[in-house]
Amino acid sequence: MSAVVWHRGAVGPERRSVITGGSGVTVWLTGLSGSGKSTIAHRLEDRLVAGGRAAYVLDGDNVRHGLNEDLGFSPADRTENVRRIGEVARLMADAGLVVAVPVISPYRIDRNRVRDAHSAAGIPFLEVWVATPLDVCEDRDPKGMYARARAGEITSFTGVDAPYEEPEAPELTVDTSVLDVDACVEEVVVRLP
Ligand code: ADP
Repeated sequence: MSAVVWHRGAVGPERRSVITGGSGVTVWLTGLSGSGKSTIAHRLEDRLVAGGRAAYVLDGDNVRHGLNEDLGFSPADRTENVRRIGEVARLMADAGLVVAVPVISPYRIDRNRVRDAHSAAGIPFLEVWVATPLDVCEDRDPKGMYARARAGEITSFTGVDAPYEEPEAPELTVDTSVLDVDACVEEVVVRLP
């Protein structure tokens, strides 16, 4: 590692932002399954791209089909899942995109490591806690996962038989049981750099 030198090119954040319509930033959406992370991320992406700003949803589930296909849901694998997604997000944000990252990311230490990596690289990071209560998430059960977890067909499911560690100092907290999708997106938009 120490023998590898980071190569800096002539193109910096200011020149990139002219092309991408604004500064790069990672919008990290953490919360329980069914809390609304993906829905908010996609609506945010849609709204920004419609307005001429480069944005992309880096979906935790989708990344599990490729980059992270070797990882499961053990604590060590969840940690590595978050580390890799965090690194990809950091690079994409460095490229000038608004990167919306909907990923449960249940462990505080892992999320904080991603935050620290952004901070060390001078890249803005917004942690959004999608704090929809468990009973609401479970009633929605958009993918039928809670039912399967309660039936014992899936184990180590966050909120059922695996922990979720709540953020201590997120930049934003939204509860989708009281705010509609557009209102949640607006709360994010006003906090973008
Ligand atoms: P997650 O990505 O957190 O697992 P999803 O976005 O896939 O959650 O699912 C959330 C579900 O809740 C969707 O069916 C969505 O339509 C619904 N929902 C209801 N109200 C809201 C809201 N205000 N924000 C986001 N999602 C909402």
